[in-house]
Amino acid sequence: MRAVPSPEEFLGFRIGDDRKLADWPEIVGYFSRVAASSDRVKLEELGRSTEGSPFILATVSSPENLRRLEELRGIQMRLCDPDGVEPEEAKRLVARGKTVVLITCSIHSTEVGGSQMSMGLLHRLATGDDDEVGEILENTILLLVPSLNPDGNRLVCDWYRRYLGTKYEGTSPPMVYHRYAGHDNNRDWFMFALQETRLTVEKVHNVWHPQIVYDIHQMGQKGPRFYVPPYIDPIDPNVDPVLVSGTSFMGLTMADALATAGKAGVNTHWEFDGWTPARAYQHYHGGIRILSEAASADVASPVEIRAEELEGERGFKPLEARWNHVMPWGGGRWSLRDIVDYEFIAAMALLGNAAKHRERWLRGSLEIGRRALNPPGGPYAFVVPKKQADHGAARELLEVLGMGAVRLFEAEESFTADGVEYPEGCVVVPVAQPYGRFAKTMLERQVYPDLRKNPGDPPEVPYDVTAQTLGLQMGVDVVPVRDRFECKLAPLVLNGKIGSVHGAGKPWYLFPSELLASTRVANMFLGVGFRLFRAQGWEEVGEGELKPGAFILESGEGTEKVMGEAVNLGVDFYGVDELPDVAFEVVKPRVGVYKAWLPNADEGWLRMVLEEYGFEFQSLTPQDVRQGGLAGRVDVLILPDLGRDQIVDGLKAVKGADPMRYEEVYRMGLGEEGTRAVLEFLGEGGSVIALNKASGYAIKDLMVAAENPLEGLKEQEFYIPGSILRVTLDETHPIAYGYPREAAVYFISGPAFKVKEGYEVAKYPEANPLLSGWILGEKQLRGLAAVADLPVGRGRVVLFGFPPHFRNQARGTFRMLFNAIYYCSSGV
Ligand SMILES: [Zn+2]
Repeated sequence: MRAVPSPEEFLGFRIGDDRKLADWPEIVGYFSRVAASSDRVKLEELGRSTEGSPFILATVSSPENLRRLEELRGIQMRLCDPDGVEPEEAKRLVARGKTVVLITCSIHSTEVGGSQMSMGLLHRLATGDDDEVGEILENTILLLVPSLNPDGNRLVCDWYRRYLGTKYEGTSPPMVYHRYAGHDNNRDWFMFALQETRLTVEKVHNVWHPQIVYDIHQMGQKGPRFYVPPYIDPIDPNVDPVLVSGTSFMGLTMADALATAGKAGVNTHWEFDGWTPARAYQHYHGGIRILSEAASADVASPVEIRAEELEGERGFKPLEARWNHVMPWGGGRWSLRDIVDYEFIAAMALLGNAAKHRERWLRGSLEIGRRALNPPGGPYAFVVPKKQADHGAARELLEVLGMGAVRLFEAEESFTADGVEYPEGCVVVPVAQPYGRFAKTMLERQVYPDLRKNPGDPPEVPYDVTAQTLGLQMGVDVVPVRDRFECKLAPLVLNGKIGSVHGAGKPWYLFPSELLASTRVANMFLGVGFRLFRAQGWEEVGEGELKPGAFILESGEGTEKVMGEAVNLGVDFYGVDELPDVAFEVVKPRVGVYKAWLPNADEGWLRMVLEEYGFEFQSLTPQDVRQGGLAGRVDVLILPDLGRDQIVDGLKAVKGADPMRYEEVYRMGLGEEGTRAVLEFLGEGGSVIALNKASGYAIKDLMVAAENPLEGLKEQEFYIPGSILRVTLDETHPIAYGYPREAAVYFISGPAFKVKEGYEVAKYPEANPLLSGWILGEKQLRGLAAVADLPVGRGRVVLFGFPPHFRNQARGTFRMLFNAIYYCSSGV
């Protein structure tokens, strides 16, 4: 074998050197070179990223362990699912197994330290012949993912190099660093919408169920130098207690290693909680989640920070020593080298703990696994009834659970549960199973604890959102069952329903408005030039009825061929002789999506959802809008979730960003010129759909006849950081086509509307609308509109008080957005 080169020999510079970054091809090159030269490292390409970069995993252990990897994996699987494991076998498993550790780097691509450091860590483990390395190799299996977002690494490196040596050096790119999700790419750990998440879950997590998962991040420049757990409350009660204590044990081990290495400014038990599964797949699959957050430099350029510039937040006092912040950092130079050093020490301490306390981690797995098989408290199971408004959405929900390693069963007979009768064919999800906690947290309604000491205090804010209930988010009926019941069950085989064509050969075909798949189908037909309409009222078909807004297809040459593809998506067609009453003709919409010069994750998710459902669109930059003549290019302009000031002023309105550090092209927002162009567009019959906070722009700058009574309220008076709320809908309005009278929406710090002139499409009820999560000041919402349709000029503005496509998760409200697009572009 060839000698293992050091990163310096391979790259020509030391990791962490000022103004030096290894890019993705270089990192992959280094990993390949080490794997080719070391019998301690095995390298695999797990697949390709969203934009086609290799997505790689290195498995690092002793040569002996790597030779018996399958056997060791078998032991690990048995520990995690210890059904029928007797005490003697348990002893043997613990004696022979290894601690499995997954380290993932730089999911947030401007947080460059992790990926750079990973090469140093690989080198140390591949070449060290001391006791520390020997013990780690002997007792652990390290799964090392040098980047969870290789596309972002490329984008950030290109951006950094482009401006190196100029006055624009060291900034973050003013666009999302993951094609669709940007910074939200680590909020996808239960929906698995992104290719990178799916690769990691299917090919790493579910293959190994690591006991320890370490995810390496960076934060702002002026807070603590480094953060590791313990987490603050609240922690989701579905996270096993052994994971909660293991997290603190590990976090403090790492903090202690940094202190004994003389590293100052390390902070624990601060800011970060353990509430949402969106960031923590492992919390429901037997693994602790260790998060580290290093203070950032200017990407790879060093910064100088004076002591008085350091900022305290949420109880952190930069210059005061505390039990959870033992050695304050007094300011000075801070560079990528510091970040890489802290992270390397932390990673080695983590691996050292995993190796030294191997038995503890393995016994922990057994204990967690046993408790999963005999969970304390209820419910006993969840039932997903066979009859659903949208069977395709129900199937997607079950696919999410299946991806989360949840075992799903089909009732082979009718049964009674909690006094309710269910027919055969319903899906049963028992909670007592190895990963039943994942099912439970995803299917139950969240009750977020109000941690304030006094009712009038400002809210103790969660780190992220407070609700995830999948059934509500996806518009799928899911029933928790408290008591045990008897029913013959068989493992569920997930087959998509194939639709059928009733009454072939007719001049018109109806298909339902309540299916998500119908939008794909509608866009398929529009794409090849068929005429489509939406029905005005209820339509009788065969034995049943279609809700208002059913799609009507005019038959023509080749209809059967397209219908033949469409039925595979589960859509039924009903042939009729007469054209029903038509609300409007659906034309192929010309959609523009506003793309501000700043990284807006919501804009990325919006593009993703539009693409997935077959909408064509163009991204419009501030320059594109300011140029005017919008009506010649688009029918509908969608403003993704973004604050009013950021829409108008761009980067200038972003806290901490300095537009003068960017080329002029990136400095602008819509400005007055852009707003004039949008008003002109509305005057000419164009439409604007404003999502969530962007509604503030429509209200203020487009002068629509609505106001937001929530504006200006203090957090003590009104606060919803991400919860699921109930709305009532006018199901005859084209934006609400296909919905029942009541639906759930994902509310996240949004507005709500008092409409002066126009239609209230969806409204909050006169009672507490909370379905899942947390609400403070619910009275403020009573009777306000959640979706409003407002005429402006010859066009219209549609306001959404929530992001209907939220993180590609809130699938139950996608159709409101799609309906709005069809409605707005129809010109009615
Ligand atoms: Zn991060």
